[in-house]
Amino acid sequence: MTKSSLALLFWICLAVPVHAADAADVTRSRVEYVMGTMLEVRVAAADSTTAGVALDTAFAVVHRLDSTLSNYRSDSEISRMAASAPAPVPVSDDTFEFVRRSLELAELSGGAFDPTVGSLVAMWGFYSGDYRIPAEADLERARASVGYRRVRLDERAQTVALDSGVIFDPGGAGKGFALERAQARLEAMGVRSFYFDFGGQVYRQGSDTVGIAVRHPRADTVSVTEVYFASGSVATSGDYERYFEMDGVRYAHVIDPRTGRPVVNRYAVSVFAPDPWMADVLSTALYVLGSDAGATLLEHFPGVGAMYLSHDGAGWYAGADSTWRALESR
Ligand code: AMP
Ligand code: MG
Repeated sequence: MTKSSLALLFWICLAVPVHAADAADVTRSRVEYVMGTMLEVRVAAADSTTAGVALDTAFAVVHRLDSTLSNYRSDSEISRMAASAPAPVPVSDDTFEFVRRSLELAELSGGAFDPTVGSLVAMWGFYSGDYRIPAEADLERARASVGYRRVRLDERAQTVALDSGVIFDPGGAGKGFALERAQARLEAMGVRSFYFDFGGQVYRQGSDTVGIAVRHPRADTVSVTEVYFASGSVATSGDYERYFEMDGVRYAHVIDPRTGRPVVNRYAVSVFAPDPWMADVLSTALYVLGSDAGATLLEHFPGVGAMYLSHDGAGWYAGADSTWRALESR
């Protein structure tokens, strides 16, 4: 997309067509607050009873994962890992799998994505809302508790052990993981047409190709582009969800674990992936890495495309790889 067409789109609000159903199906939808954001679920099923049960099931899965993975709840498995550190903590199948896969991505991304970033997220005030630019000595102290090698998994005992002081932050991938688990339950029920919008991350499955709008980082009712697909997920990591500004600099909630500082001037990175876990984890990783190192990481993920939305003083512009560009044409 050129600068001028992007500027034009800035002023156009696009309606997002989202059909999850075949003609004969019954569609049901519901919105609830979970994992700190709004989750909208639409399902299509052969009859209204099945559709209703499917909705209940999808929300039950996400609420359950919220209570096990949240680092805002002191009784969650993730919080118990930190409270018991450095002792190993037995965890559920889901938590073990979540931690294992998060660490895999941390390794693959060279530590750009790193779920042990919690001490730094706390230091900048993103948990409490008490935002501040930390002193160098405080940053150094927090960085000493960050690093994916400070987590040990015991596959046979199904335990996780954190080094003392490590805070495991599920925020970069929790929503995508929950969507993946919800999909598995819907699949088991025979429900194959659905649409999720989880705080901006869309995951749909259907037989028809539809356009999914990607919002502008400075205006949530304005779309910068649309991508067309029948099944898959689009996640965006941006500097507009949780941030503060100081001396003209916007500090947002994604932190580069290698520097200890929020990534600045990245605006928004959107990722399309066949599955929602991948879209979520990779959008956070690419937000830290930027487009060049990001492209190298994506060589491991065929079928995944990315768009970086940036601003250079003259205007907004979008840079995208060929996989993403192909999705932009109907
Ligand atoms: P997302 O919106 O999916 O990109 O996730 C952002 C959230 O991930 C932040 O609010 C933090 O909770 C967490 N986070 C911040 N920096 C990182 C990082 N480098 N790697 C993994 N998670 C992070
Ligand atoms: Mg993410």
